Amino acid sequence: MAEILVYVDHVDGAVRKPTLELLTLARRIGNPVAVALGNGAADTAAALAEHGAVKVLTADAPEFTEYLVVPKVDALQAAYEAVSPAAVLVPSSAEGKEIAARLAVRIGSGIITDAVDLEAGDEGPVATQSAFAASFSTKSRVSKGTPVITVKPNSAPVEAAPAAGAVEALAVTFGALATGTKVTGRTPRESTGRPELTEAAIVVSGGRGVNGAENFGIIEALADSLGAAVGASRAAVDAGWYPHSNQVGQTGKSVSPQLYIASGISGAIQHRAGMQTSKTIVAINKDAEAPIFDLVDYGVVGDLFDVVPQLTEEVKSRKG
Ligand SMILES: Cc1cc2nc3c(=O)[nH]c(=O)nc-3n(C[C@H](O)[C@H](O)[C@H](O)COP(=O)(O)OP(=O)(O)OC[C@H]3O[C@@H](n4cnc5c(N)ncnc54)[C@H](O)[C@@H]3O)c2cc1C
Repeated sequence: MAEILVYVDHVDGAVRKPTLELLTLARRIGNPVAVALGNGAADTAAALAEHGAVKVLTADAPEFTEYLVVPKVDALQAAYEAVSPAAVLVPSSAEGKEIAARLAVRIGSGIITDAVDLEAGDEGPVATQSAFAASFSTKSRVSKGTPVITVKPNSAPVEAAPAAGAVEALAVTFGALATGTKVTGRTPRESTGRPELTEAAIVVSGGRGVNGAENFGIIEALADSLGAAVGASRAAVDAGWYPHSNQVGQTGKSVSPQLYIASGISGAIQHRAGMQTSKTIVAINKDAEAPIFDLVDYGVVGDLFDVVPQLTEEVKSRKG
């Protein structure tokens, strides 16, 4: 069976969920070979083996942390040349998409970004993308070179499928461009204890209807009862009610959770662009004509200040 290169997103050896989802998809089209780079790369092996990696190629060097993405592209290209895979899968984060695009250019291959599903095809893997507020699904395959495909978080289940996961050191020679852009400082974001917005299985978002920073507490309370991340519309962010890093939409983050709850959000096309691929969409809005209701699986016409706290209490009581 052909080998499929899977780029590993991890934090100091802790593998992030979107990578485990990639392994599920990779197993549909071949044998996953994982590429883990940077501090703690070797520590990823157990989790990757547990989820189907037949081999784990690791490399660590100061270049991976001291410079932006090019050293990682050098390493992924080295892995590509060593393995000659049938496809390369990368998580669809901002960094992942840049790495994938640069690799595709270097190896002269076609690229598909933001896939939401992947299946084997006679002429190579076929990727599904979701377009125009999820009103269309498109299927495509790369017709030139080795397919490079980025996959959105929450596109596949995480499945245990134990494999050898043999660790091998990857030899990487950094090119002249690798040290072109140096990281000059890092400020860790204060942890909220909530899941990362783009990876969360559930997202609860608030919009202009929340009517003030002080009221976002009710959105956070619902999120916390569900173990969800908190999102916000641009109107709420621009008003200074919630941090820009939580904005969902065309000029914010793209999310694709199992469940998206929009409260006091009208459903402008630019907001939809960032949440249209959510599996189940629920909206709470006091205007029955709000465009968000065209998109939802479940809609509640009501005042969010009545509905959201009741929902939070109900969730808490059902959790016992
Ligand atoms: C280039 C460009 C990029 C953009 N990028 C983004 C983006 O990334 N993300 C984004 O979100 N927007 C983006 N926008 C802005 C977008 O067009 C909308 O203006 C914005 O999404 C509106 O936010 P909203 O739904 O919170 O506010 P509104 O459109 O004002 O809607 C508020 C809703 O809350 C409801 N409401 C009010 N009070 C209550 C209550 N008590 N209970 C229940 N419901 C209530 C109202 O009925 C209304 O439907 C962009 C716009 C442009 C031009």
